[in-house]
Amino acid sequence: MPSGNVIRGSRIGAAPERPTERYEPAPRRAVTYWCRNDHVTEIRLAVDAEEPAVWDCPRCGLPAGQDAQNPPGRARPEPYKTHLAYVKERRTPEEGEALLAEALAALRRRRGRE
Ligand SMILES: [Zn+2]
Repeated sequence: MPSGNVIRGSRIGAAPERPTERYEPAPRRAVTYWCRNDHVTEIRLAVDAEEPAVWDCPRCGLPAGQDAQNPPGRARPEPYKTHLAYVKERRTPEEGEALLAEALAALRRRRGRE
């Protein structure tokens, strides 16, 4: 049997890691965040790093804050508003009633003429 194409042992790990090269991890502190769903997230920050006020909960995606009793509210303050919601912001109910009465009166006048 020919044996010329037998793969010989190759050098694995020819470039070994240098075990002498150590690094000291920066000192860390734990910061805990709570989301509205009572998920607790602990992140570790470098001691001199400023902690973010809000951290996205990795479990549900809601923003989590550092106050367990008062987690932050909605992720986006104004996620979606209907047209009616915008109108209600601009007009009081009384104004709305007046506008409606006015529109109805105009409609009745037009119908009365037809
Ligand atoms: Zn959560």
